[in-house]
Amino acid sequence: MDLEKGNVDREKEGVSVNEYLQSISNARVYAAGDAAATKGLPLTPIVSMESQVVATNLLNGDQRTSNYEVMPSVVFSLPKLSAVGLSEESARDQGYNIRVNKIDTSEWYTYKRTNERYAMVKIIIDEDKDQVLGAHLLSREADGLIKHFATAIQFKLKTEDLKQMIYAYPTVASDLCSML
Ligand SMILES: Cc1cc2nc3c(=O)[nH]c(=O)nc-3n(C[C@H](O)[C@H](O)[C@H](O)COP(=O)(O)OP(=O)(O)OC[C@H]3O[C@@H](n4cnc5c(N)ncnc54)[C@H](O)[C@@H]3O)c2cc1C
Repeated sequence: MDLEKGNVDREKEGVSVNEYLQSISNARVYAAGDAAATKGLPLTPIVSMESQVVATNLLNGDQRTSNYEVMPSVVFSLPKLSAVGLSEESARDQGYNIRVNKIDTSEWYTYKRTNERYAMVKIIIDEDKDQVLGAHLLSREADGLIKHFATAIQFKLKTEDLKQMIYAYPTVASDLCSML
């Protein structure tokens, strides 16, 4: 797009932007989505969020920023692999006092019932606040299950509260209590 002519700085990941997704070199330019160098993963829901940030800032002045704390992602393989929030390594790096529940769930009834050979969860929990920091799931149902962890992280739910939830049975979510 001949960005140089418009004095729009860029880097490997895309247009260099500030927290308002405004070009750092040309205040008249904003960038969102795959074309912007942000912390956001190149995924459709992140693009939607960033485009709303840009629209708000264009119309009302710089006031809105993106929140990259919760970015659920799924590898649509067989079985599926999903993740949201922090990895164990980044939680430790950030100084959290964590408990890691790493469980091979392939022997659980939910997976036996559907003859699923590979199923595993890894949940990272902040011991001090009793909140989920990250979840990493492997199973055919990993795409559906990750939504519950995304909600828990977004709204900072305590695992004690999550354990009070009643989920339809037999669904993978009904195992949530045992995972926590
Ligand atoms: C194969 C594949 C599978 C994916 N699967 C998923 C998925 O399952 N879930 C998910 O969340 N994300 C998925 N993604 C990522 C997702 O599609 C992108 O993150 C998202 O489309 C990015 O949106 P965007 O608006 O930033 O860019 P784009 O959707 O790429 O839109 C950019 C538009 O700009 C146009 N354009 C480019 N150059 C110019 C120019 N010079 N002038 C005018 N127009 C131009 C392009 O033609 C395009 O239409 C997938 C991506 C790929 C490639």
